[in-house]
Amino acid sequence: MTSLRHRTPETLNWGPESAALRRPLRTVPSRHFTSLALTLAGIGLGAVVAITFTTFSWSGLHAAGGWWLYIGRLSGMIGAYGLLMMTVLIARVPVLEKSLGQDHLVRWHRVIAPYTYWLLFVHVITLIVGYAQMQNTGLISQTINFIFHYPDMLAAFIGFGLLTMAAATSIRQARRKMKYETWWSIHLYTYLGLALVFFHEIRTGVMFIGHPLTTAAWEVAWAGVGALVLIIRIGQPIWRNIRWQLKVTSVTEVAPKTFAIVVEGRHLQRMALSGGQFFQWRFMTKGLWTHSHPYSISAMPRPPYMRLTVKSLGDQSSLVATLRPGTRVFAEGPYGAFTHHKSETKQVVMIAAGIGITPLRSLLEDLPHGVAVNFIMRANAVDEIAHRDEIRDFVAARAGSYTEVIGLPNEVPFDGTVLTSIAPAISTSDVFMCGPDGFMNYVQGVLTSLNVPVSQIHYERFTF
Ligand SMILES: Cc1cc2nc3c(=O)[nH]c(=O)nc-3n(C[C@H](O)[C@H](O)[C@H](O)COP(=O)(O)OP(=O)(O)OC[C@H]3O[C@@H](n4cnc5c(N)ncnc54)[C@H](O)[C@@H]3O)c2cc1C
Repeated sequence: MTSLRHRTPETLNWGPESAALRRPLRTVPSRHFTSLALTLAGIGLGAVVAITFTTFSWSGLHAAGGWWLYIGRLSGMIGAYGLLMMTVLIARVPVLEKSLGQDHLVRWHRVIAPYTYWLLFVHVITLIVGYAQMQNTGLISQTINFIFHYPDMLAAFIGFGLLTMAAATSIRQARRKMKYETWWSIHLYTYLGLALVFFHEIRTGVMFIGHPLTTAAWEVAWAGVGALVLIIRIGQPIWRNIRWQLKVTSVTEVAPKTFAIVVEGRHLQRMALSGGQFFQWRFMTKGLWTHSHPYSISAMPRPPYMRLTVKSLGDQSSLVATLRPGTRVFAEGPYGAFTHHKSETKQVVMIAAGIGITPLRSLLEDLPHGVAVNFIMRANAVDEIAHRDEIRDFVAARAGSYTEVIGLPNEVPFDGTVLTSIAPAISTSDVFMCGPDGFMNYVQGVLTSLNVPVSQIHYERFTF
């Protein structure tokens, strides 16, 4: 018998007969983790507010500029804590990624971001006003005084400028006009911004001066988050890629403008990975190496091979078709919580549209034994469906049901009646879906009208 190790990707079978090794997630997500994470974040916020209260005194409040100074300190401390939380949310901390999913973490990061920014803005303005009143001087001369005569304040102003740049380019209207890569590069400067604002906090903040314990705790918190970013975002991916030594083996068109890319690497049998997860892929070739893009695995690995499937939609994803065998690949991950661990029942309805097929294809393969599958494929035309035969084979191997709903959206409905006729038990099933954003929003509405509990609806969005 030929071992998988000696097969070439052309003869390699990605179907059910070449069973992939089942690899458990290194950290199985706990349902209680969200509450725990929120409780810890709440305790941290409480501690930050409590520290600021230590500077409170009625006489101080009624002195010149007292109220302004107090509001400035409070907004500064909560804003700084917000910066830490935002950084943790996008640090790709494995336990957070696997429990909550990157899309949720990014969404929370976005929710916190404007509050954090405006708190910092209020901090800057109120402290300038407060100190100006206290020292009986004008606002401009107080600002100049801050910049040139207070320790680390020039760096703090530059840092705030960088944070303002990131905030301004993240406003929806501005971001829409910008290439993702440009936005991402500007966002990288926020790390520099964070480093620049830190030192003025401990060197000028009244809650830190003369309070070595508070200062030490604040330094540990910031250094801890910094170390987390350095280890998880830089150290760990470099170490893993040195081990994996990934390179492109083949690129095959599997549907119009849709390419299956097989990569080959070492130690893949030891990779903790679940169906439905994704990596940030960086192809080390001209035009592609400067940015990584998220793509889901479209099959469980067959060591030494693994596979992703990419639809050419924009400039970077279109270049993928031109990849040559042997091209080095740098992959960060695996990430994502769109895995069977989210299931609450023993019945799964999978709804795929367009390139949303990819995570569902690997998730289907990774479902535990005994789970009943009802796979629904929504497409404009049959030949647009990537990996169609494989999916049918995997569903058949589980004695499940596979249904295609084919046709243009305005001609072929995909409403509650259609869904319940295909999957009568949908309201008591887990529903996993992936497809274009508009499609998912629509289906989510239909599922809600069919009384599918929110906890049983799981989706992967291809936009952050
Ligand atoms: C979790 C996840 C899994 C995905 N899995 C797949 C998959 O299996 N197959 C597939 O074909 N596509 C997948 N995508 C979508 C894919 O990442 C984008 O289509 C691709 O990055 C577009 O890049 P582009 O430069 O060609 O297009 P552009 O025209 O530059 O961008 C098109 C859209 O993709 C977004 N985008 C661009 N670059 C990135 C990036 N580096 N990170 C995040 N979003 C970006 C942009 O905001 C824009 O909305 C996935 C996306 C996510 C978030």
